[in-house]
Amino acid sequence: MRYEGAVYRPPSEARSLIIQATVGCSHNGCIFCNMYKGKQFHVRPIAEVMKDFAAARAAYPYIDRIFIADGDALIYQTEGLLAILDYIGSAFQNAGV
Ligand code: SF4
Repeated sequence: MRYEGAVYRPPSEARSLIIQATVGCSHNGCIFCNMYKGKQFHVRPIAEVMKDFAAARAAYPYIDRIFIADGDALIYQTEGLLAILDYIGSAFQNAGV
């Protein structure tokens, strides 16, 4: 997996596979939050994201939770997000997202 910058996740995702679909936060304007101040927000190309999922699938035999990062992964275009979720559903049948 290729990670850009520091990766943050909720405490409940401590054992999850984390894949960055986006880098940074699309809003990045909350005055109390410094998590993504050093990152220029961008959406990663679907091919890069899928390569990371495939690498994780090959490296780890059992993955039961997946966290799609970074700060605002739901901004990902719907077709791309559906492709990611379809891949997770087929390649990580035990995993929750
Ligand atoms: S990650 Fe959340 S809290 Fe931080 S700037 Fe973005 S929207 Fe605000």
